[in-house]
Amino acid sequence: MSKPKVAFYWCASCGGCEEAVIDLAEDILKVVEAVDIVFWPVALDFKKKDVEALKDGEIDVSFINGAIRTEEQKEMVELLRRKSQLIVAFGSCAHIGGIPGLANFWTKEDILERKYKTVPTVVNPDGILPQEKTKVEQGELTLPSFFNTVQTLDQTIEVDYYIPGCAPPPDLIMKAVETILKGELPEKGTVLAPTKSLCDTCPRAESKPEKISMKEIKRPHEIETDPEKCFLEQEIICLGPATRSGCGERCINANMPCRGCFGPVAGVIDQGAKALTGIASILGVENEEMMEEEDVEKLIDQIVDPAGLFYFYSLPASILRRKKTN
Ligand code: SF4
Ligand code: SF4
Repeated sequence: MSKPKVAFYWCASCGGCEEAVIDLAEDILKVVEAVDIVFWPVALDFKKKDVEALKDGEIDVSFINGAIRTEEQKEMVELLRRKSQLIVAFGSCAHIGGIPGLANFWTKEDILERKYKTVPTVVNPDGILPQEKTKVEQGELTLPSFFNTVQTLDQTIEVDYYIPGCAPPPDLIMKAVETILKGELPEKGTVLAPTKSLCDTCPRAESKPEKISMKEIKRPHEIETDPEKCFLEQEIICLGPATRSGCGERCINANMPCRGCFGPVAGVIDQGAKALTGIASILGVENEEMMEEEDVEKLIDQIVDPAGLFYFYSLPASILRRKKTN
């Protein structure tokens, strides 16, 4: 019997999701034994034409990481969609936009200007920007177009399942791969991770009081944080209440608050809005009494870069999607 055909591809990402596959360590041998990898450009010498040569639907499952930012990425994921029975959005950037999605706070022009002209280390006296077409003696060179907006994978192609995380942890990957290979498929659109919030599994949950009031907002580097106590209790914003569990509480165990890479809990569309609402409900409450409006405003001013904080990973998937450009 032939083995299921599997593809891996990366779009706008840091490469951490590819590392996560390698981090399966000896388990990767089980995967390699069970499947026939037909495309994995970061690790094996496959070309686009190899995918084009496959019949439509011939790949059983494609795992795609990274957000969609360029024409080339769009073209490749559309090709993989055609050739695959199942598409799995792998990791935060494919799932909810991830860190590359923070670029949606700027326009394409702002980004090119900064990157190629005003960064202090750039020397570009003629202010040359990358062009999609450049004539050279030998012919024409082309670059894929760079979109104005970073998109999640499911804003570009139909996605069947999601494996969350920056990067997804090995146990979750193996469980998801086994589930898919056994054909024990859950409902289409399922996020292959627990449905509870991170607070429900957090080792510090017991120290999270019923009623929290934040009279000051602190940042982790400003105080010596107590490694046992809930961050909210220490007046540090943590996105745990609005974030899906399943990561193994990696940041919390490293004494850092959650920034939301697992995406929203089940049933929530806008993770940033959910986190913001939670924080808003505990801000400015002192001895169960509301503080004066002026004092609440001063408190809000202490939140450095609120949009970047609450939408750290999820701006493209949010209702906002991007900063308005007109
Ligand atoms: S808010 Fe953060 S630190 Fe507190 S219980 Fe939730 S995940 Fe843990
Ligand atoms: S604690 Fe939050 S940001 Fe850190 S790995 Fe877990 S879900 Fe991601």
